[in-house]
Amino acid sequence: MKALRIADCGLRIGLRLLKSAIHNPKSAMLIIGIILPARMSAQQWPQHSMDRPRPPVVDPGPERPPTPAPKDAIVLFDGTNLSQWRAQDSTAAKWTVKDGYVEVKAGTGMLVSARGFGDVQLHIEWRTPTPPQGEGQERGNSGIFLMGIYELQVLDSYQNDTYPDGQAGAIYGENPPLVNATRPPGQWQAYDVIFHRPHFKADGTLERPARMTVFLNGVLIQDDFELVGPTANQARPPYRAHPDKLPLRLQDHGNPVRYRNIWLRELE
Ligand code: MG
Repeated sequence: MKALRIADCGLRIGLRLLKSAIHNPKSAMLIIGIILPARMSAQQWPQHSMDRPRPPVVDPGPERPPTPAPKDAIVLFDGTNLSQWRAQDSTAAKWTVKDGYVEVKAGTGMLVSARGFGDVQLHIEWRTPTPPQGEGQERGNSGIFLMGIYELQVLDSYQNDTYPDGQAGAIYGENPPLVNATRPPGQWQAYDVIFHRPHFKADGTLERPARMTVFLNGVLIQDDFELVGPTANQARPPYRAHPDKLPLRLQDHGNPVRYRNIWLRELE
């Protein structure tokens, strides 16, 4: 009842403003000032804008042990071998497996899953190098490319400033994370992702965009975000029709980022 009254009150104020705006251009400007900011989407900022406000920092709590895979999960990496992975050119995967993790071997290119996937629940743990080296995008950069096309950024974003749509947990170049819930470099962190692939009509045009929900270290950082297209650097390429299932790719950005405990559940 209380909510109704507040809504009703808002409506009355709105109507009064509207009536006065007809007679008074100043109040018309006031209406624009009140209504427009609320309606503007996250896309109001230019891509990679350094002026964009930084997401609030949230301490996610201490590092946790690996999350066991559920019984129906497809385990892509259990710490022992890369049998589920290939190099970009389909030859044997070249990244380094050691002590239960796999580390980016700079210059060898992306790690590509042998199988393709569409809609998934993905769990993946990662750790950026310590001591940290480089600044901004050059510090602990890697990335998780759903379907090999849509990048969830991996970066050392602990006290390391960069453009918000390129920090850890960003849908790269499209949407910053809601908060910065990263741990310091050298500590293990976990993404839990719900990804829905895009759908295309028979003529190749877009029917439904891809969507992503992401938790970082148990903290919600992407809430059912609708991707505007494939992720890219200094570009906003449009959607282009592709198969319903495509391999997952992990990025070689030249930094020795580590991954462990990678599993997913297919959702379709
Ligand atoms: Mg990256």
